[in-house]
Amino acid sequence: MLKVIQSPSKYIQGPDALSHIGQYTKILADHVFVIADNFVMSLIGDAVDNSLKEHDVTSHFELFHGECSQNEILRLSAILVENQCQAVIGIGGGKTLDTAKAVAYESQIPVVISPTLVSTDAPTSALSVLYTELGEFDRYQVYPQNPNIVLVDTTIISKAPVRLFVAGMGDALATYFEARASSAAHKPTMAGGLASKTGLALAKLCYETLLEDGYKAKLAIEAGVSTPAVENIIEANTYLSGVGFESSGLAAAHAIHNGFTLLEECHHLYHGEKVAFGTLTQLVLENSPNEELETVLDFCTQMGLPITLEQLGLRDNEKLHKKIMQVAIASCAEGETIHNMPFTVTPEQVYAAILAADRIGQDWLY
Ligand SMILES: [Zn+2]
Repeated sequence: MLKVIQSPSKYIQGPDALSHIGQYTKILADHVFVIADNFVMSLIGDAVDNSLKEHDVTSHFELFHGECSQNEILRLSAILVENQCQAVIGIGGGKTLDTAKAVAYESQIPVVISPTLVSTDAPTSALSVLYTELGEFDRYQVYPQNPNIVLVDTTIISKAPVRLFVAGMGDALATYFEARASSAAHKPTMAGGLASKTGLALAKLCYETLLEDGYKAKLAIEAGVSTPAVENIIEANTYLSGVGFESSGLAAAHAIHNGFTLLEECHHLYHGEKVAFGTLTQLVLENSPNEELETVLDFCTQMGLPITLEQLGLRDNEKLHKKIMQVAIASCAEGETIHNMPFTVTPEQVYAAILAADRIGQDWLY
C-alpha cells in the first residue's frame, strides 16, 4: 500500500492574523463568500471586510444559521451562486467551518478556514460532520482536498473559554498514541494510505508540545493572554493534531469516545474531554508501561481532563456496568477505528480496560 500525507495547502497562524486575510485570499479569488454566525460576525466582520477591501477583494457576507445540515448547505450554496462568488471563507467554530467546506465543495471552488476556537483538530481536515435539522449526527462527508488555507488568529483564540482550549488538548493527546498503534498494525489512515515518517513525526511532536507547553498555556489562557506557550499549543491542537491524525491514523481512543457519546450522562462533555479518557483506556488496553501511564495521568490532572468515570458524569450504581458494556460494544462496531489496533479487540477487553482505567484514575487522584 502507498503512503499518503495530506494537509491544507497553506497554514497561517499568529496574533491578529485575520487582519491579513485579504492578502492570502487574493491568491485564490477576487470575489468571496464569507460565512460566520451572528456572534462571530459582530466580533470580526469589520476586520475581515477591511482586510479584503485593502487587497481589492470584493465580498458577500452571509450569516450561518447554526447547524451544519444538508438544508443549510443548500441554502448558502444558492446564495453563493446568485452572487457569483469564487471562493468561500468560513470563520467560527466547527459547525461553521464544516459548512464552509461543504459549500465550497458544492461549487467546486477554494475555501479559507479560520477557526475562532481550538477545541478540536477538525479545521485542517478534508472532512465535514453533517447533522440533521434537529442536531443529530447525520453522516461524515469526505472531500478529495483539504482546505486551501487555514488561517488561525491567536488573539481571538486566546480570548475563548479555557475549557474549550483544554478540550482541544484532550483531542490532541490521542493523536500520537493512535498513530503509534495504527501504524504498528500497518492500517490505512484517513488520508487513504499508510502512515509516513512525516505523519508519525508530526503526531509525536504534537504529544511532546502538549507535555512541554500545555500547563503554561492553560494558565496564560486563564489570565486571558497569549504567550509563546499558547502559540505552541494552538499549533499542536490545530495543525500537528489535525495533519497528524489524518495522515497517521486513528485507533482505540476515538472509537471509545464514540462509544461514550451513547450515554446521556456524557452529553455535557466536549469531544476532547471524552477522547482524553479514551486515550487512557487505550493505554490500558495496550498495557502501556507505568512511566507512560503516569505521564498521561499527570498531564490530564494538571489540565483538568477526566481520568475517572465519575469525572465523566457516571455514578457507580447497579446500572453502570451495563452502560459500560454498551459503550464497549459500540466502540467495537464494524468500521470503527478500534480495529486499527495491532491486535484484535473485543468488547469484553474494552469493558475491562475502561473499568481498570477508571480505577487507575481514582488511585491517582486519592
Ligand atoms: Zn478528535
